[in-house]
Amino acid sequence: MTQRRLRLGVMGGTFDPVHHGHLVAASEVAAEFELDEVVFVPTGQPTFKQDQDVTPAEHRYLMTVIATASNPRFTVSRVDVDRAGLTYTVDTLRDLHAARPDAELFFITGADAIEQILSWKAPDELFEMAHFVAVNRPGHTLSTDGLPADRVSQQEIPALAISSSDVRARARGGAPVWYLVPDGVVQYIAKHGLYRGNDE
Ligand code: ATP
Ligand code: MG
Repeated sequence: MTQRRLRLGVMGGTFDPVHHGHLVAASEVAAEFELDEVVFVPTGQPTFKQDQDVTPAEHRYLMTVIATASNPRFTVSRVDVDRAGLTYTVDTLRDLHAARPDAELFFITGADAIEQILSWKAPDELFEMAHFVAVNRPGHTLSTDGLPADRVSQQEIPALAISSSDVRARARGGAPVWYLVPDGVVQYIAKHGLYRGNDE
């Protein structure tokens, strides 16, 4: 009997903080593509966010663990958090491939991120290493023009107009973040006073 290859979704992000838009995207793509597992990979130092303050990786990692803990198919990887220097997705995929050589990788992105993919490091290798699944996101047009059609798919998901930037702005201004992020993440933000001042 030949064994089916493990189908592994990869949800990369800054997750500052993780919110229900990320979780719905991962869940919907997992169902449609029959993924066995989706691994969330919080970035170390994000390449495209060098001009802004990003919350220390350990907080972002722990919030991602809290948000995904109740889903038996969701896991969190430290590969990007533990790698020194800027985070490049090609390194993420290389590390995940090295750890799980038999798995078929499906990289999940929102409409804004897929638009930029050709500007990422080593785009040809990216498409060799993973199949890309792009989902719609409010405020962005979902287009995969110019990308290799056999390595990129589009998927419609319920549109959640949630962004980490908005969650941070709300927390900073004392507005509620309930129901935008999982309850445990609301409590983690309050417990550690995240997004309050300039220190975090
Ligand atoms: P920020 O506002 O800080 O950029 P973000 O909400 O965009 O945060 P990221 O961590 O930058 O979150 O995004 C990680 C991935 O999740 C990206 O591929 C992004 O396109 C996707 N994503 C984020 N929010 C949504 C959403 N509401 N619906 C679908 N995809 C999303
Ligand atoms: Mg973003």
